Amino acid sequence: MPPPVFRFAPSPNGYLHLGHAYSALLNFDLARRTGGSFLLRIEDIDATRCRPEFEEAIYEDLSWLGITWQAPVRLQSEHLADHRVALEKLTARRLIYPSFESRAEITRLVAEREAVGPWPRDPDGAPHYPGNARSLSRQQRTQLLRSDAPYALRLDMAAALARTGQLHWAEHGAGPNGESGRIAARPDGWGDVILARKETPTSYHLAVVIDDALQGVTEVVRGEDLFWSTSVHRLLQRLLALPEPAYRHHRLILDSDRRKLSKSSAATGLRELRAAGATPAEIRRLVGLT
Ligand code: GLU
Repeated sequence: MPPPVFRFAPSPNGYLHLGHAYSALLNFDLARRTGGSFLLRIEDIDATRCRPEFEEAIYEDLSWLGITWQAPVRLQSEHLADHRVALEKLTARRLIYPSFESRAEITRLVAEREAVGPWPRDPDGAPHYPGNARSLSRQQRTQLLRSDAPYALRLDMAAALARTGQLHWAEHGAGPNGESGRIAARPDGWGDVILARKETPTSYHLAVVIDDALQGVTEVVRGEDLFWSTSVHRLLQRLLALPEPAYRHHRLILDSDRRKLSKSSAATGLRELRAAGATPAEIRRLVGLT
């Protein structure tokens, strides 16, 4: 078996906190222990929230923790052409459709649906797409695409599932309810997910599977908040004929109120802890790594 490939993939939209330290150290330790490699990927596709100073701080904070990574660092924003090719493949297979409703319109449509009964929500709590863009005529679609109207490109979940059938993944860690081993994917729980927008020609789900494949990642080690996203990732991997990595979802580091850490909280920020005199060994102890 070739040596495993691990990665840490933060978004430079804030400073790293103890939760990031745990994830990065866990990946780094696993790579060292197994004779594998450790890669760093900067997930910077959201140009409105990502900033160069946060990217610089990621390198600085990880180096301070004693983490080293293989060069080059992959900047997701430099590989949009790869994401576009994948999107074109899915479009050619008629698995993608554009929808044109604004966020406000979507909220209104969901409220309308919910007034007559329950409307499905995805594992993150967002309502499924309520619009009727799939039934627009070819002519209406072309006209709207040529206009100034913003749009989202959505995966036609029913059509995609008809192509793939039931999918699974190998879970070496555990999900939020202790799920482990061979997990049955449930991509339908996400509805017609957005894979790109007019102004951002890719999305987290699309970019993560393509970049993991292009970087040869064999073990995806990340927080359990992304456990059910893996269902969409497996679906996209199958549709795009990409290799299947193993997954290891890990516990989240919570604050004293048992809430997920936020990038804006000073109490758990790595820079603040460092300024207050914490050592990398203390950070390891704080996140429960020895
Ligand atoms: N960029 C994502 C985040 O910062 C992580 C994605 C992943 O590990 O799959 O939450």
